[in-house]
Amino acid sequence: MKTVLVTGGVRGIGLAIAEAFLKKGYRVAATYSKDEDGASLAKAKGLEVYRADVRSETEIVSLFERLDRVDVLVNNAGVSLIKQIQDVSYGEFQNVFAVNMGGAFLCAREASKRMIPQKSGLIVNISSVWGEVGGSCESVYSASKAALLGFTKALAKELGWSGIRVNSVSPGVIDTPMNAHFSETETAALVEEIPMGRLGVGEDIAKAVLYLEENDYVTGIDLPVNGGFSVV
Ligand code: NAD
Repeated sequence: MKTVLVTGGVRGIGLAIAEAFLKKGYRVAATYSKDEDGASLAKAKGLEVYRADVRSETEIVSLFERLDRVDVLVNNAGVSLIKQIQDVSYGEFQNVFAVNMGGAFLCAREASKRMIPQKSGLIVNISSVWGEVGGSCESVYSASKAALLGFTKALAKELGWSGIRVNSVSPGVIDTPMNAHFSETETAALVEEIPMGRLGVGEDIAKAVLYLEENDYVTGIDLPVNGGFSVV
């Protein structure tokens, strides 16, 4: 049985991805850092749940030792930061990069140590439309997600020779706890910018990840899933 690891897989987009793999018969491990309620719900759904902060090298190394085998890694854990640049502290900058890029690096490094001898594997990095086009008042978040796009392409070139594929998915505006702070008016204004006329849902992203898992000749791509939000 194949094993998939979804970081931040106990809620939002990560949970939708984890559930989609569960339906396909995978063994699914999901991590979280603080969300104990989400962890209990995810366990009840049949996921293996591990507490591991993606910023911690020790915790991530030990997580991979406990999992033993990983066939698919989905680097989904992420934090947003919506602030004008003049108000962003250096600590906030470091935290966004530690989670969004540092976490993906640590997990990809540990996964590749297992995948290279297996001569197979898939890594999917969840980036963002803001990583592709840049978001005003989200410069640090956008930069961290743009870094993931570069990481994806470079790793695809490096690991393809070992039978490992590396791709990214860039969601647009998805209805998850990350966006719970938007008022009804703000949400309506956002929807007006989306040609498909609705916010995305976690399942939209899960379908994209499943496509990347199914097509074993696709590597090094970024798949935008945003209802047309980024069409220029
Ligand atoms: P969310 O806030 O609902 O979930 C984020 C998950 O990341 C949670 O499970 C949380 O426990 C985990 N996480 C955060 N910090 C962590 C840490 N230090 N260690 C381990 N886990 C940690 O957000 P979401 O909307 O489901 O977002 C999932 C991914 O999709 C993120 O990478 C996000 O940047 C990206 N994304 C989301 C949207 C959107 O509109 N919701 C758009 C583009 C990209």
